[in-house]
Amino acid sequence: KAKLAGKDRFMRFASAMRDAANRKLRIELALRDALAAEALTVHYQPIYGLSETALVGFEALVRWTDAELGVISPAEFIPVAEDMGLITPLGEFVLRVACRQVSSWNALHGQQLFISINLSARQFDAPDLFATIASTLQESGLPPALLKLEITESVLLDGQHSVSEVLSRLRATGIQISLDDFGTGYSSLSYLLRYEFDVIKVDQSFVRNLDQDPVRGELVRTVVHLAHNLGKKVVAEGVELPSELEYLRELECHMVQGYLLSKPLPCSLIDALLDNLNTADTRMALMRRLCA
Ligand code: C2E
Ligand code: MG
Ligand code: MG
Ligand code: MG
Repeated sequence: KAKLAGKDRFMRFASAMRDAANRKLRIELALRDALAAEALTVHYQPIYGLSETALVGFEALVRWTDAELGVISPAEFIPVAEDMGLITPLGEFVLRVACRQVSSWNALHGQQLFISINLSARQFDAPDLFATIASTLQESGLPPALLKLEITESVLLDGQHSVSEVLSRLRATGIQISLDDFGTGYSSLSYLLRYEFDVIKVDQSFVRNLDQDPVRGELVRTVVHLAHNLGKKVVAEGVELPSELEYLRELECHMVQGYLLSKPLPCSLIDALLDNLNTADTRMALMRRLCA
């Protein structure tokens, strides 16, 4: 009987494996077409400055809806794109679309908003990464100081010498480097020593309930102080509750991003947001939300 149960479990395991492999294969095929057809889109999540009490920039987040598979999360398809060698064209697409978009928003609305774009480790394999970024900036008319590149520890773990070289060339043009998902890796503190960067993004897993959980609260306080003492900026990701925001404001965290303020939005909704940015009602509502 035990043997039968074991066999049953194995069959279920094998069929789950087969389903996963099938889904990955379908995603691979569909993603290649979607990229060629430019069927991916970019959403923009507003980032607010707490000392300015204002919108200061956006994070670009890629979005994909397939006719058959439906909405697929970037957490699922970015790793597939990396495996397939498609992350370089995908990354270039997001960079081009987002830089143009924010450059035109700034011109239209007289703003100096920044755009923060995620770079995957595999994009550093391309020898022309620096040249691509430089020429995309030039074509879009976006000043380098308004571009931030978000990298995670996986970029830095690769330990390639070329990574730190590319990062310093990028910084020399005025582009800023953000450490994304800070604190979730194995050697977060040691890469503070090894790489030049401008912004620390505290991962949402630390922000969640930081006002309730003393350990999370202390951790975030320490990271914010660290950023202050190193002369870096700090962004808290995934702010969902007014009590979390209140705590971050007391710590003098520079910037916040999260569903409490806004989800990532398609450009049509950002258009509307920017149209109303300086109306008295919007200013009041923002003050109320950011200053509680
Ligand atoms: P990330 O860079 O850490 O982006 C933040 C993620 O948190 C986004 O998920 C965003 O929608 C989500 N988020 C923002 N505020 C909140 C909140 O208050 N609560 C919760 N629960 N979530 C919040 P998304 O868009 O699903 O992206 C997931 C990951 O996929 C990103 O994590 C990033 O690592 C990757 N990704 C997305 N777009 C790109 C891209 O264009 N290129 C590359 N290489 N990676 C990307
Ligand atoms: Mg990010
Ligand atoms: Mg993040
Ligand atoms: Mg993340």
